[in-house]
Amino acid sequence: MKQSKTLDMTQFQNKKANFHTHTTRCKHAYGEDRAYVEKAIEAGFEVLGFSDHVPWPFEGYVSPIRMQMKDVEGYVDSVLALKEEYKSDIDIYLGFESEYFAEMFSELMEQLQQYPIDYMILGQHYLDNEVYRRYAGRDADEATLISYVKQVIEGIRTGYFSYVAHPDLVSYQGYPAVYLQYMKQLCLEAKKLEIPLEINVNGYREKIQYPNETFIQLAAETGNTFIIGVDAHDPSQLLDKKNYEECVSLGKRYTDRLICYR
Ligand SMILES: [Zn+2]
Ligand SMILES: [Zn+2]
Repeated sequence: MKQSKTLDMTQFQNKKANFHTHTTRCKHAYGEDRAYVEKAIEAGFEVLGFSDHVPWPFEGYVSPIRMQMKDVEGYVDSVLALKEEYKSDIDIYLGFESEYFAEMFSELMEQLQQYPIDYMILGQHYLDNEVYRRYAGRDADEATLISYVKQVIEGIRTGYFSYVAHPDLVSYQGYPAVYLQYMKQLCLEAKKLEIPLEINVNGYREKIQYPNETFIQLAAETGNTFIIGVDAHDPSQLLDKKNYEECVSLGKRYTDRLICYR
C-alpha cells in the first residue's frame, strides 16, 4: 500500500508530466530555472516537477554532483516563485532526486522537513554511501548487483519515494539469469508498493547502460507501472521530442502500464 509521504504519480497518468528535472545547483546541469519551465510549456508538458540532486549532510566531504544544504532555501524559493508565476500555464511541483543511504537518511529528512517538498524520486547512483565513490553503473559484479537491489528495495520501503529513477542503472555484465534473478526482486517490491519505474530519456539519448530493454521486459512481465522521465540537465532537453517519443514507444512495446506521457 502506498504511504502518504509520497506524491502518487498515477493521479497524473493521463497528463504529459515530467518529474525528473535538474538545476545548475547540482554543478552538472545548465540553464536558468525559468528556462526549464518555459521549455516544458513549449514542449506541451502540463506538469513539471523539479527534482534536483538532494544535498546529503556529509561531514568533511563536498559532493561534486549535488547542491549543498545551504543551496536548498534558494532552490525552494525559486521553484515556489515559478510555480506561482506560471500557474495558469503549467503545474509545478517541488522535489528531489535522492539516493537511499541508510545511515544518513533520517538526518537528511530531518534537515529537509522544514521545506514544503512535494515528492522525492529514488535515483541510486552510489552504493552504501557516496563518500566511498562506488558508482553502481560501471562494471558491476554480482556483489554490486545484490547491494544495488537491496538498497533500492530498502529505499522504496521508507515510503518517501514516488518512483524509481533509472532503476536499471546498475550495469551487471555477468550471467543474464543472475541479473534477472535479482532485478526481479526489485520489480516485485516496486509492484507491491505501487511504485512506478522510470524509462529515462537522458540515458536513452546518451546511449548509456539505461534504459535496459532486458529490464523493461522483466518489469513489464512482472506487471510494474512505468513512467517517462526526461532527467533534464539542460532546458532544451525538454524539447527533445524524438528521444522522448522513442522512449514512449519502447515502453509501449512491452506494456500498457505506462503513465504521464502524451
Ligand atoms: Zn544529474
Ligand atoms: Zn536525475
